[in-house]
Amino acid sequence: MIKKGVYVIILKLDQESDIQIGKLGKFHFRKGFYAYTGSALGSGGFKRVERHFNVSIGKNPTRKWHIDYILPKSKIVHAILLPTEEAIECKLARRIRKISGISIIPGFGCTDCRCETHLIYAKDELKSMITDVCNSIGVKDIMISSSYQEKNNESKIPFSYKMYAPPCPECRSTNSLVYNIFADDWICKNCGYTIYGCSFGDEK
Ligand SMILES: [Zn+2]
Ligand SMILES: [Zn+2]
Repeated sequence: MIKKGVYVIILKLDQESDIQIGKLGKFHFRKGFYAYTGSALGSGGFKRVERHFNVSIGKNPTRKWHIDYILPKSKIVHAILLPTEEAIECKLARRIRKISGISIIPGFGCTDCRCETHLIYAKDELKSMITDVCNSIGVKDIMISSSYQEKNNESKIPFSYKMYAPPCPECRSTNSLVYNIFADDWICKNCGYTIYGCSFGDEK
């Protein structure tokens, strides 16, 4: 399993607000859904996505990237990861920008590239449209975050994905194994059995 790649996070903003986005300026954000396209090709790989979750819930106070300013005011509803070694984030951002009916936040997330934006807005849920665009990009494994255990709840599994998994080898219950991409292990929610470094989630 490749632990780096590009990703899209879908955010939900429950109330409109004016947010200062670092040096980019102050923007009026309408209530609704936002999709941010980013790259996690550095050494930490998809840890960057975990960081976004931590900024969003207030566990991480850093404000380094544009996205860090909007995260604490919103909620991450989905994270779609595209494991790849290729820098396809701008290609992906441009395709997402072409989705009809959306609007854009100009210059957002584009400090190091020449795209129009890496953040789009839609009034309604964006997930299926974003998934379609991700599928069109030709990267095989697209994983959608199914749950995020917040602060006090199951801290052993900070960020997990719904992926194909066989029944638990220990207690035999089905649909109980949860994959943690950062630890690269599977934990059974039923009996706590842990399998390290196993990649059967790839066998969809
Ligand atoms: Zn770009
Ligand atoms: Zn089990």
